Amino acid sequence: RSKSSAFLDVCAFSPEDDRRARNRLRMTNEMQQALEHDEFDFHYQPQVDLATGTIVGAEALLRWHHGLFGMQSPDKFVGHAEDTGLILDIGASGLRTVADFATRVNRDRPVPIVFSFNVSPIEFKLRDMPKFVSDVLTASGADAAWIKLELTESLMVESSAEMLSIMRHLRELGVGLSIDDFGTGYANLRYLEDFPLTEIKIDRGFVKGLAQSRSKRVIIESIIRISSELGFHVVAEGIETEVERTLLRDMDCDFGQGFLFGRPVSAAGFEALV
Ligand code: C2E
Ligand code: MG
Ligand code: MG
Ligand code: MG
Repeated sequence: RSKSSAFLDVCAFSPEDDRRARNRLRMTNEMQQALEHDEFDFHYQPQVDLATGTIVGAEALLRWHHGLFGMQSPDKFVGHAEDTGLILDIGASGLRTVADFATRVNRDRPVPIVFSFNVSPIEFKLRDMPKFVSDVLTASGADAAWIKLELTESLMVESSAEMLSIMRHLRELGVGLSIDDFGTGYANLRYLEDFPLTEIKIDRGFVKGLAQSRSKRVIIESIIRISSELGFHVVAEGIETEVERTLLRDMDCDFGQGFLFGRPVSAAGFEALV
């Protein structure tokens, strides 16, 4: 295929392409149905204070309970939901669910649990996020400080004045803004200066094999130093071992998330946990 000319490529609509197109259509229909039938929900993975071990937050992770194929991870369908625009509906109902859950969990709790919610760049671009978030908070009765939005580096790369203004408005509401998978995108330290972030989330790629890699330790140490100078919290994702926990704690990383502290669990499971 790579050898054929562009002209041939356009003309050659193979049975394979046909199958793909049909799969896409089927998937789109199924996701639409899934929304109507409430097949999406969230699992919650604890985030702990590395100094004390206390659960201080949780990341809400989308799950699709497919009638035939069982529980599906977002990696399997979020990309498709983004391509078709369905992510707008999934994300909207998702944030409502998470804000309602936060209100429920934090009722009568002296120190609230902060819930992280992954926002797709598509939502960020196509929706009036500040207005939407504000409406959701009002409807659920959740305090803005209980919600943290996880954004991707790609949003900062396209750094427009508009993006900056959206983020400022979100910060004025009082929700936290975290950069997910930090260090995996086209990281540009400039945006740490420009954007009103509250948290950096170090990607699991830097955490994995930390004990064996001096360069990983140096990189993480630098990220933590820069973040603390700029007033951001740092959370490390994908902590699986005691050694990783201890190393990160000793580097003054604020929070940790990973299988060592707990796998993502259902809403009921998370309530039981805290
Ligand atoms: P992410 O935001 O980086 O989420 C962390 C992923 O790492 C989760 O996978 C989590 O289960 C997994 N993980 C956590 N701790 C460990 C660990 O110690 N070891 C290993 N090996 N893995 C760990 P999950 O739930 O499959 O989510 C995958 C990605 O899907 C997320 O990556 C996020 O980018 C996206 N996603 C999840 N929920 C949503 C959502 O509601 N909306 C959107 N737009 N994207 C979402
Ligand atoms: Mg995330
Ligand atoms: Mg992440
Ligand atoms: Mg990740």
